Amino acid sequence: MSNLIAIVGRPNVGKSTLFNRLTETRDAIVDPSSGVTRDRHYGHAEWNGRSFSVIDTGGYVYGSDDVFEDAINKQVKFSIEEADILIFVVDVENGITNLDDEVAGIIRKSKKPHMLVVNKVDNNQRLDDVHEFYKFGLGDPYAISAMNGSGTGELLDDLVKILPEDQVKSEDLPKLTIVGQPNVGKSSLLNMLTGEERSIVTPLAGTTRDSIFQKYNKFGHEFLLVDTAGIRRKSRVHEDLEYYSVLRSVKAIEEADVCLLMIDAEKGLLAQDLTIFSLISRNKKGVVIVVNKWDLVADKETNTAKQYSDYIHKKLAPFTDVPILFTSVHEKQRIHKTLEVALTVYENRTKKIKTSVLNDKLLPIIEAYPPPAIKGKYVKIKYITQLPGRIPQFAFFCNLPQYIAENYRRFLENKMRELFDFSGTPISLFFRAKDKREA
Ligand code: GDP
Ligand code: GDP
Repeated sequence: MSNLIAIVGRPNVGKSTLFNRLTETRDAIVDPSSGVTRDRHYGHAEWNGRSFSVIDTGGYVYGSDDVFEDAINKQVKFSIEEADILIFVVDVENGITNLDDEVAGIIRKSKKPHMLVVNKVDNNQRLDDVHEFYKFGLGDPYAISAMNGSGTGELLDDLVKILPEDQVKSEDLPKLTIVGQPNVGKSSLLNMLTGEERSIVTPLAGTTRDSIFQKYNKFGHEFLLVDTAGIRRKSRVHEDLEYYSVLRSVKAIEEADVCLLMIDAEKGLLAQDLTIFSLISRNKKGVVIVVNKWDLVADKETNTAKQYSDYIHKKLAPFTDVPILFTSVHEKQRIHKTLEVALTVYENRTKKIKTSVLNDKLLPIIEAYPPPAIKGKYVKIKYITQLPGRIPQFAFFCNLPQYIAENYRRFLENKMRELFDFSGTPISLFFRAKDKREA
């Protein structure tokens, strides 16, 4: 569940230091193996059982007509727009500067929940200087030292109190999102699914943040579409900047159950698409690949779609069990189908399989193809059951679980995918020492 916190303030107040303190021991969301290096401006944090994402907005600067500064300020404003909660950092050493006043104005105007943090209060002598910051009218200041950590515990205690409620509880409908690079046709598909027939039923009640989910009823299905402000924005001036597309995708992916990863048929599956795919699989979300602008592919011999699918599956290996659709939003080709497939993936992801069915189907296969003996040890799998969880997970109870090799795990996963439809969704297999009931 995504809760996005943006750290805002002028340069040098200690934003990155605070960012590091909040996220230091956490895995970065962006996969280092995907060729996207760990983004030092984007991280994940947890406190009291709640997790949230943190963006370090870099810094708000002004006073020159440097285009670079201009770009930074746009990034800051964009992050403020996207965030659920703002942490406004100022610096006790310098007192209030004009730039602080300007940032305070932006925060007031945003009307977002915010916390005012006075940094560099490294010791108690500094505490008296904190009062000055009440002047912003942005609430009680939190006195902290990002460097030595003092005060950050209370800051986090209060921060998690104002995090929006996890939305999973609020509505139990499939949450879909369309992600992909600029210009592939995301907005066109979104409009087709939502705009033309006024299919919006209602914005979700009881959510504190400006609604990320919209509820739709289309082709006889009820579902939620994750609708980040960015996806719908008409003037996509900054769309070319990697920063925006990545940030937007990360946020949308975290919110969704199933992601429609859209690519341009003429361009193929590019490195950036693989980065998004890897974000989706690391987040253990369902996925459908939508190859759009199929109308532009000139020579559609009977084999082209199959060849194209093979090419994509090869690039996605070892994730081969991923549905691929060929659409043309312009010619209204397979729009309905796309929604159907996404909802099937949702069903696959939330599927529960009875223990009796699992055992009846899998035990004979395991008997015919038992795990190969390792160092003279024979593993006996006795019993299989599905575990509760947000994705399908299964426990295989056996003696000597440590002797199950990766290729045998993969064999079982493939068999399960053949027997029960799990296309588009991750599944997990765990091997555990024999169940007490069996012992
Ligand atoms: P940013 O530009 O707002 O991201 O600020 P940085 O995190 O880069 O910090 C700017 C400077 O302030 C660095 O030299 C930090 O070491 C220093 N700094 C950050 N937090 C503290 C703090 O709590 N106390 C003190 N004394 N210095 C700090
Ligand atoms: P987004 O940036 O991913 O949201 O992409 P848009 O929906 O704004 O579409 C980018 C461009 O591609 C627009 O000019 C669309 O009209 C065009 N486009 C979208 N879908 C199709 C399609 O199926 N076929 C063709 N030929 N063009 C399309």
